[in-house]
Amino acid sequence: MEKIGLLGGTFDPIHLGHLRVGVEVYERLALSKVLFIPAGEPPHKKGRPLSPFPFRYEMTRLAIKNVPYFEVCDIEGKRQGPSYSVKTLEELTAKIKAEFFFILGLDAYLEFDIWYQYQRIPRLAHLVVVTRGPGGQEEFLLKTREIFPQAVEENGIFLLPQGKSLRFLPVTRLDISSTMIRKAVKARQSIQFLVPEEVREFIALHKLYLN
Ligand code: ATP
Ligand code: MG
Repeated sequence: MEKIGLLGGTFDPIHLGHLRVGVEVYERLALSKVLFIPAGEPPHKKGRPLSPFPFRYEMTRLAIKNVPYFEVCDIEGKRQGPSYSVKTLEELTAKIKAEFFFILGLDAYLEFDIWYQYQRIPRLAHLVVVTRGPGGQEEFLLKTREIFPQAVEENGIFLLPQGKSLRFLPVTRLDISSTMIRKAVKARQSIQFLVPEEVREFIALHKLYLN
């Protein structure tokens, strides 16, 4: 059966941190491919104005187009209302017969228990938490004991009562965020080597993030 990695994000804009996560998880878990899923309306990012979905989708498409095992998925752009990951997973698992690996950074995992029906997510996909920000394995273990107290560990991989696995997978730490890229553009600083060239050109052409 195919093993498909899923990497959701606001991707406003997508950057080299996201792309390295895709490459490293693909290699380490011997996946068949990685789907990048730009969020429609991210439920936890209300407040700041978000670039329109077609812009974020197009930047993602440009960023991944030279990697044969990366794909961009527009499933959340088509749906109305907040983009709950559990809904996306339900749609994908109904449509595609594969083993799914839901990838998220440690910063996102530390807030996982505020996600809509987060307990249902590991019924549908394995969870893969990657290095992001200051913490590491320790923070991952603490959070796991808090939110999945019944998880059983074997060789660093947790089996969840919902049936799927959960693991921490260290990746190269690239201290890049979309927030810092938007700030740099606003301050008229260069974002070269933080995003793919095509994304940098797209941002300049469409005058994104200037104010
Ligand atoms: P923002 O600053 O707007 O929050 P971001 O850079 O955090 O943007 P998101 O779209 O919020 O990007 O992140 C999508 C997913 O990618 C999350 O699971 C996040 O943890 C992960 N991620 C983002 N940047 C990195 C990075 N540099 N290294 C590892 N994981 C990352
Ligand atoms: Mg973020």
